[in-house]
Amino acid sequence: MFRIGIIGGGLTGLTAAYRLVKKGFPVVVFEEDSEPGGLASSFDLRTSSLERFYHHIFTSDLHLLDLCRELGLEDLMGWYEPKNAIYTDNHLYPFTSPMDLLRFSPISFISRIRTGLLTLTSRFIKDYKHLESQTARDWLIRKAGRDSYHKVWEPLLVSKFDRDADLVSATWIWNKFKLRGASRAKNISREMLGYMKGGFARLVDRLVKEISEAGGIIRTNCRISGIRRLEDSRLALDGFPEGAFGRVLFTGSPQQLAALDSPLPAKYRESLAALKAKGNICMVLELDRSLSPYYWITVAQQDIPFVLVIEHTNLVGLDGYGSHVVYLSRYADHQDDIFMKNDRDIESIFLDGLSRIFPGFSREWVKRTRLSRVFYAQPVITRHYSRLLPTLKTPMDSLYFASMAQIYPEDRGMNYAVRLGLAAADEIMKEL
Ligand SMILES: Cc1cc2nc3c(=O)[nH]c(=O)nc-3n(C[C@H](O)[C@H](O)[C@H](O)COP(=O)(O)OP(=O)(O)OC[C@H]3O[C@@H](n4cnc5c(N)ncnc54)[C@H](O)[C@@H]3O)c2cc1C
Repeated sequence: MFRIGIIGGGLTGLTAAYRLVKKGFPVVVFEEDSEPGGLASSFDLRTSSLERFYHHIFTSDLHLLDLCRELGLEDLMGWYEPKNAIYTDNHLYPFTSPMDLLRFSPISFISRIRTGLLTLTSRFIKDYKHLESQTARDWLIRKAGRDSYHKVWEPLLVSKFDRDADLVSATWIWNKFKLRGASRAKNISREMLGYMKGGFARLVDRLVKEISEAGGIIRTNCRISGIRRLEDSRLALDGFPEGAFGRVLFTGSPQQLAALDSPLPAKYRESLAALKAKGNICMVLELDRSLSPYYWITVAQQDIPFVLVIEHTNLVGLDGYGSHVVYLSRYADHQDDIFMKNDRDIESIFLDGLSRIFPGFSREWVKRTRLSRVFYAQPVITRHYSRLLPTLKTPMDSLYFASMAQIYPEDRGMNYAVRLGLAAADEIMKEL
């Protein structure tokens, strides 16, 4: 039977490998990092493990929940009610319930009502095609009002998409409203978020175990730098001299696929390279005390060097961590100066920003920090994105492509990585 090579050991690659080995196909997964998991990978923290980048799921993440059920992990999923806030005008405003929105004084009362209506009604929009031609900016201004846009949404779009903020499609923000609106208990004022007890490392570890036990191979610290076609029409991978593959699935970023040494046509590579994305820098702080009662603080003020303060232990409790765990997250262009700085400088910039939000904060509260950075963290969903979506099959025979850039109209997320991994495996099996 054909051997299948999967480049990338993130959730998309691992899910595809899991599906394929369970159907009896020999699979080898190649991951350039030292650990599998990709963006959802973790590190050990006391008796638990913690994601390098903050992660939770929504009640509507059914593909992920189905996979957890199949793997016998469903009992590990805990559901929690988050407390949210917005930081703007040098002030922290609670932002969890509809009442919080009604009391949100930085914008006019009429804008509060319009913003509430927009977020509520977004979930009933089924056909998003008319949103594809509009920018998030124009749509938000028209629907929620100019002051709501400038006070809340513009700083958010800029801090997530940097210089591409004005290019972001209305589809992207509509989908965010829809997702958060759907992740609720029956009472509409209560949002529920899911987190796996012990961390999502349990899911990654289980997938790795299942793949290995079914005869699949996972090669970490193994970077594939090129793909060549052999005379017998199989594919050889540069970076893995031991044999060839009948089919190959690439699950890294479009830019990484475009940069691979391969016979992919120039025009296709150009279309991949043109897809925009943002990087992310995430700092984990272990603190000896809590910063606030909030899980999720959105920083809608551009003079603060990060966009999110996420106090993980305010959602899931302190059990297993031994500290109050806080993430500070910043998105930036790959060319941004912040990516040139060393960890120590970034830490200093971030801690200064934290002191601005919490004037009582002292660096003595910090027990440990850990910084993670990644260039491909968030695809930029521009107008008419459906026309740009790469397909699972590439123009090179036997080479398939499945990455976050293909998640649409939803936005990236573990749930969609699982959906995509399964779809890619099915596509490969269909061909075989
Ligand atoms: C800051 C942040 C917060 C997030 N928060 C959430 C959240 O709360 N909830 C949620 O559901 N999702 C969240 N996500 C998104 C989620 O992590 C991703 O959607 C998902 O993990 C993507 O999986 P993937 O396998 O498609 O991609 P990746 O995880 O990027 O995996 C691709 C892998 O391919 C490897 N690779 C690339 N090129 C090569 C090569 N040439 N050779 C070998 N290996 C290669 C890479 O090293 C990488 O490990 C977040 C992401 C970020 C960045």
